[in-house]
Amino acid sequence: MSVETYMSLCLHDPAEGYYATHPGLGAAGDFITAPLVSQMFGELLGVWAIETWVRLGRPDSLRLVEIGPGDGTLFADCLRVIRASTDFQAACEPWLVETSAPLRTLQGQALSRGPRPIRWATTLADIPDDAPMIIIGNEFLDCLPIRQTVWTGQSWVERNIGIDDGRTTSATLRFVTGPPRPDVSPAAAVGTVREDSAALAAFGKAVGALIARVGGAALFIDYGRDASGFGDTLQALRNHRKEHPLANPGLADLTAHVDFPAFLAAAGWAGAETGPILTQASFLRALGIETRANALVGKNPDAAGLIDRQLQRLIAADRMGALFKAVCIHSAGLTPPAFEART
Ligand code: SAH
Repeated sequence: MSVETYMSLCLHDPAEGYYATHPGLGAAGDFITAPLVSQMFGELLGVWAIETWVRLGRPDSLRLVEIGPGDGTLFADCLRVIRASTDFQAACEPWLVETSAPLRTLQGQALSRGPRPIRWATTLADIPDDAPMIIIGNEFLDCLPIRQTVWTGQSWVERNIGIDDGRTTSATLRFVTGPPRPDVSPAAAVGTVREDSAALAAFGKAVGALIARVGGAALFIDYGRDASGFGDTLQALRNHRKEHPLANPGLADLTAHVDFPAFLAAAGWAGAETGPILTQASFLRALGIETRANALVGKNPDAAGLIDRQLQRLIAADRMGALFKAVCIHSAGLTPPAFEART
């Protein structure tokens, strides 16, 4: 099977897929995300949403949508900030897009005490589209399945996954050479891997068309490239350790680096505008993360060391600050906060 089919099955197979059966976020699980590092992350996304609504001209009605909300921490931090703006809170209808049943349960628990009831959808297309939308997605795009292609010396061929059952008693999975792909990529060193994602392009197109139609903005933060390039980025994480992506199908989180230029191009073709690709550090700094950290330290002087470590984890170039990027898809004439710079 292709890497694309393998990724989809490993993550979403109803009986054995990772997200469908036993997703593990947090210290006791398999991986940690930015909102689990610090409350500052979700709070600043709340600030970003309020300011985007102001720049939209304060519409009376708006849908605030998080896609891929994990355990609900990000949305809870975001909605707590939104309580500070009565007008925005009155205008804003909160929605979550989630396919995972166990995570929907966790999200329901984390968000049970919010000011407005949360609604769930399985895809963006299930949300009514008669009002502007502000969409946020952190570490969602990296779950979208990719295909891999390898340069053999003569041509690009699909990298597939097959069964090696010749020598072992139990069958093991391994990468095998698939059919040639008619590809315009130039020659590269033998064995070079190239990735592309039809799912990422289709999602970019869907978000671009939606935002162009209803108005608003969509913010995505994830790890990935800001220029096209080669490389095998398929990665499995289990118990906070990287393991071979074929070692434990369905038991590990499986991701790939996001090709941000391809994602934004798809949204642009669908009619939306797109901003520059920012590093997570410059995005969070533009929203005032250092000021927020100082305020938290002022209220909890004993936690100064901890808060600084959390801040550094989010913005230091050798932690999440540079590998993670923030991008925005928005309607014509809107410049969302932090995306003013045309870099
Ligand atoms: N945003 C959260 C969680 C990231 S984990 C955080 O930052 O902590 C990825 C999330 O995306 C999970 O909630 C997973 O169930 C969801 N997800 C993965 N593929 C999806 C899809 N195709 N449609 C909707 N949600 C999906």
